Amino acid sequence: MRAAVLRDYNAPLSIEDVPDPDCPDDGVVLKVAACGVCRSDWHGWTGEHPRVKPGQIGGHEYCGEVVAAGPQARHRVGDRLVAPFILACGACPSCQSGHQNTCPNQRLPGFVEPGAFAEYVAVPFDHNLSPLPDSLSPTVAAGLGCRVTTAWHALTGRAALAAGEWLAVHGTGGVGLSALLLGRALGAQVVVVDVVPEKLTHALGLGAAAALDAREGDTAARIREITGGGAHVSVEALGIAETVNASIECLRPLGRHVQVGMPVGHTARMEINMSAVYQGNIALFGTRGMPSWRYPSLLSLIERGAVDMTPLIAREIGLSGVSEELAAFNGPTPPGVAVVTDFST
Ligand SMILES: [Zn+2]
Ligand SMILES: [Zn+2]
Repeated sequence: MRAAVLRDYNAPLSIEDVPDPDCPDDGVVLKVAACGVCRSDWHGWTGEHPRVKPGQIGGHEYCGEVVAAGPQARHRVGDRLVAPFILACGACPSCQSGHQNTCPNQRLPGFVEPGAFAEYVAVPFDHNLSPLPDSLSPTVAAGLGCRVTTAWHALTGRAALAAGEWLAVHGTGGVGLSALLLGRALGAQVVVVDVVPEKLTHALGLGAAAALDAREGDTAARIREITGGGAHVSVEALGIAETVNASIECLRPLGRHVQVGMPVGHTARMEINMSAVYQGNIALFGTRGMPSWRYPSLLSLIERGAVDMTPLIAREIGLSGVSEELAAFNGPTPPGVAVVTDFST
């Protein structure tokens, strides 16, 4: 099969013919229909992701059709499925208590095992996978493996965002844009922050109440003013100190900060304003992925038309286009995300 393989950090991926994956006993092989290019792939590509080593096939935001099923698989050949990027074992105390995204036995295609920047991907623990509604195109569904689910769990599973509350979103890449769309669907008023004017305009067109350019300074104070005292919930979607602090400082007393951006490599440890946390009685939530049992809540919202995730997708690309998308994360990016839908070019 064709696959895009990381051979050297910060260099174009190598498009290679590699052996088709073996089918796991406890899972399936998917023919990949679509796979998003995510900032986490970029972390791997730069060498700052702790798990990604040369030889890795990236791609963790995928959906596809089952072409082989192991003897213990739950799904069957022909099923159209979406996979969360965290594949949980289903048997440990974390899984049994509903927190599959913290499973210590988790499998991670695209980070540790071969991912979906390839024609086929092996997916163990297929009980994590959910059937795709017919109404959802694979291109849009690909985001349900990482960005959209991460935003959904951040807002509903962690911060318990309520209708009428103010939500601030720092960084309007894939996950930030997802948080805006889902926050609106939940009835929140949303303020977004970015440094790319085109992204701010895009966000306003998607229902943001306000869009701030962080380069103009004092982001937190401006949000406190717009929201009449501070946001109730603030999502940080970059993983860098400047935006983490803006997120904490823009909250009203008892506000909830959700760390969605991945602090990694040289940003893994950062200085944050703990005095603001203390003074404001602020809650800090970390979040990573979404427990797979929560898929129906999100899919039903999309299926009944309460939220349209299509504005998330900026372009469909071929496999050989992934390298350019990864390199683009080195700087500010235009609105929307890229999804691989053609694995032959
Ligand atoms: Zn991702
Ligand atoms: Zn587990």
